[in-house]
Amino acid sequence: MRQFTTREAGVSKAPFDSLNLALHVGDDSKDVMRNRSLVDAPSLAFMNQVHGSTIVVVDSLSSIEPTADAMVTQQKNLALAVLVADCIPLLMWDRAETTVAAVHVGRRGLVHLIALSTLTLMKEMGATDICAEIGPAICGACYEVGQDVFDEVVQNRSSAASKTLRGTLALNLPRALETALVDQGVEVIQSNVCTVENEKYFSYRRDSVTGRQAGLIWLT
Ligand SMILES: [Zn+2]
Repeated sequence: MRQFTTREAGVSKAPFDSLNLALHVGDDSKDVMRNRSLVDAPSLAFMNQVHGSTIVVVDSLSSIEPTADAMVTQQKNLALAVLVADCIPLLMWDRAETTVAAVHVGRRGLVHLIALSTLTLMKEMGATDICAEIGPAICGACYEVGQDVFDEVVQNRSSAASKTLRGTLALNLPRALETALVDQGVEVIQSNVCTVENEKYFSYRRDSVTGRQAGLIWLT
């Protein structure tokens, strides 16, 4: 099963209103824990995301969140959660439903190719015929960047090259990620929902101080 939460139907107050699922953004932790309990999913496993390249295999719920940007599990009823507000929540699974993964893909993650490393790990764990869903994230028209950042990303992932509606340099991370996965034979579902343009979602680029929504995936 998989799910992308929105900012609706939680208890947090502005600017975290209302279904903020992140403890690290300055929201009241009691409200965050209440919001986490409101999500219609089994036990939630979160990670301390740092835009790195560490992937952890999760076998059970731990009171200490692992520092990582991707989690993989083969345990049933353990929901892997990736927290985002413009970065890409990437969910992957195999058709035989033996293995699932949740990956945090930002600009640095894309350059580090954490998604492809996670794919390799899933295959090493026995998964074949892998599918992926790219959840709501900042789009190629909204993610304006300077020349240096543009060059750094585009020299590695040319399909990330994009422009804003005003014609300035931008990055299309969802498209670049899709290209990288399709090149590996993965079937990709693209949500095509932009978090900056759609107020149903938290957006760091739009609001700066804000909450985080989650991409969730679990085996049943
Ligand atoms: Zn957009």
